[in-house]
Amino acid sequence: MSTTLSSPYAELISRLIPNLKSASGPDLKVFTPVDGSEIASLRVDTAKEIDEKIARSVQAFKEWSLVPGPIRGELVRRLGEALRQKKEDLAKLVTLECGKILEEGRGEVQEMIDICDFAVGLSRQLYGLTIQSERKNHVMQENYLPLGPVGIISAFNFPVAVWSWNAALAFVCGDSTIWKPSEKTPLTALAVQAILEGVLKDFPQAPANLSQVIIGDAKQGSQLVDDRRVPLISATGSTRMGLAIGQRVAARFGKSLLELGGNNAMIITPNADLGVAIPSILFGAVGTCGQRCTSTRRVIVHRSIIDEVFNKLKNAYTSIHQNKIGSPLDPHTLVGPLIDGDARQMMERALELIKPEAKEIVGGGRALQDKYPNASYVYPALVRLNKQTEAVYTETFAPITYVIPYDTLEEALEIHNAVPQGLSSAIMTTDVREAEYFKRHTDCGIANVNIGTSGAEIGGAFGGEKETGGGRESGSDAWKAYMRRQTSTTYYGTERPALAQGITFDV
Ligand code: NAD
Repeated sequence: MSTTLSSPYAELISRLIPNLKSASGPDLKVFTPVDGSEIASLRVDTAKEIDEKIARSVQAFKEWSLVPGPIRGELVRRLGEALRQKKEDLAKLVTLECGKILEEGRGEVQEMIDICDFAVGLSRQLYGLTIQSERKNHVMQENYLPLGPVGIISAFNFPVAVWSWNAALAFVCGDSTIWKPSEKTPLTALAVQAILEGVLKDFPQAPANLSQVIIGDAKQGSQLVDDRRVPLISATGSTRMGLAIGQRVAARFGKSLLELGGNNAMIITPNADLGVAIPSILFGAVGTCGQRCTSTRRVIVHRSIIDEVFNKLKNAYTSIHQNKIGSPLDPHTLVGPLIDGDARQMMERALELIKPEAKEIVGGGRALQDKYPNASYVYPALVRLNKQTEAVYTETFAPITYVIPYDTLEEALEIHNAVPQGLSSAIMTTDVREAEYFKRHTDCGIANVNIGTSGAEIGGAFGGEKETGGGRESGSDAWKAYMRRQTSTTYYGTERPALAQGITFDV
């Protein structure tokens, strides 16, 4: 079956995916969270097809790894240019398929462009080291070499940016890629693949099958995960998924780069500037309808100001509930839908669970049901607690934010670090001592001062500790995960070579 003919979105989809027909089939129905309607139906890759794709990726790697780094960078530069041209269309498709508001859809495509720019520069800077040798006339070096086909498994909530964080770096590092996008957002993956193929068409230095897409769910993903020909699996998604994948990749001595769930908190001290803090909480808590790995799930507030903070937030939530929930394609909307009914039910269950412990709950429940009976719009929920309990330890991928009191900064950090995840953290304070204490003691991969937990730039290494998986993607030296590190010693003398540690071995 092809794109639903009556769909108002059909034209956009076929503009971005000219070969949609060849990908169509009865296996995987794609729904838009905007109104819950079916927008496409795709064929899932068979085991044999996946096997062949991996074999082709191995061949592509062999050829691509021989192309000089700066020429590989030129491909990524052109990809960035193509994304600039398609930004508005691709942003719309992101919005259509995952439900984030159009402004955030644009931000997501901008992130792709930014990482392309970063990777272009990187293509001339894949630096190794020269190391002093203890032996005369010896040279020691550390070299970085292309790794192999990289398997990319991505989550629904950043359906295209996560691929670009991985692929832009993998390409300049000399690797081929195979992408298994979320089964909830396969169209954006096909669109990005089509954009890249348009660039590759005029780039003869690149081999065929440098980038391929596998359509499917966990089953198809598992085949990629278990294949020894794929040395690196970069997987973004839930902790449950990461636990399964991490063990399987380790069992075959592969490498994994895991970017998993968060349970992010912001600490508000009595020295906070609330004019800075409140908007930051709101974007982190209700932005993307609470479906970012970096969404603000907990706000830990000094007891002396918790009433004031809660009331300010309550007022803002009431106004959002009244005016700002709606179709993510509408420019006035700030809160779009949840991805599907399962996500809504998980939100409902989490609120039921916390009810006996809550001092007050603002929001929760279904919104816009009459207008969109098949979609899952909700009222973002603010839950005031007397203390943090284990009920909040689980990441609920929905707009629920818990407000929790503390008395000392040491206690705030204990509350903060008590959850099993360790992705993003923030403090709101104008006191440098508090800020530095926080940075030293938060156990997260991201530690922000006077900005919220969500909305990272690509220049830094992105990722978190503990159950967030420990991986780092995107900026800084994250590229090293996509290369093979080699230590090399060369002797250029003419005498009998010396052994390390001064060992004599005279024969
Ligand atoms: P998910 O775990 O349900 O799915 C993610 C991807 O993993 C999908 O492509 C899915 O098909 C695949 N998958 C699931 N089980 C698999 C298995 N056993 N083998 C192979 N593949 C498997 O996650 P989701 O609902 O799409 O996304 C939401 C989650 O992702 C949240 O927990 C969120 O915090 C997390 N996330 C993390 C980051 C980060 O960078 N840390 C970024 C975005 C999302």
